[in-house]
Amino acid sequence: MRVVVLRLGHRPERDKRITTHIGLVSRAFGAEEMLLVGRDPAVKASLDDVADRWGGDFRVVESVRWKDEVRDFREAGGRVVHLTMYGSRLGDVLDEVRRSPQVMVVVGAEKVPSQLYGLADWNVAVGNQPHSEVAALAIFLDRLWNGAELEEGFESRFPGQIRVVPTARGKLVLQHGDGSSGGGGP
Ligand code: SAM
Repeated sequence: MRVVVLRLGHRPERDKRITTHIGLVSRAFGAEEMLLVGRDPAVKASLDDVADRWGGDFRVVESVRWKDEVRDFREAGGRVVHLTMYGSRLGDVLDEVRRSPQVMVVVGAEKVPSQLYGLADWNVAVGNQPHSEVAALAIFLDRLWNGAELEEGFESRFPGQIRVVPTARGKLVLQHGDGSSGGGGP
């Protein structure tokens, strides 16, 4: 399944960190790109740097128009999930969402445009309490993949310069390219 994340409402003066985290979660949990309404070169540079060093071809596309992206995605056969605390229960829609070969996941910042509720195929709540777009996205993607994104096979899709070897204690990191490896305690 192809997954794309659309980030609405980014305010460069206050959302840098949270939008960066949306991108990090998107990449690490199996999305192929983050579309950003607005522009923030610092956020893009930081996510591009992670993709360069840690592998994969995750992309950040800035300055998109959300309505065009939603429309084009649906016209190309994809389905759109809008994460909102007001939506349907996650468990009630997941089976249906999984049947789509392409899914766009939309997350907001403050208030999202009310039109989005009508344009999305599903408005989905990760619990009906207000919390965070980062948490909602991570839980949604984890449930979507049934946890497979945390397994070795899934991660090996990102052969990068740096690779963590899971260890019970300490840190073991392989650096490709210069043949070195680093280790140590936390
Ligand atoms: N009142 C806003 C709303 O419409 O959901 C809450 C804004 S919240 C700070 C920012 C974003 O986090 C929302 O646009 C939504 O994508 C996500 N979010 C927050 N709580 C959520 C929940 N319980 N379920 C799904 N998404 C949630």
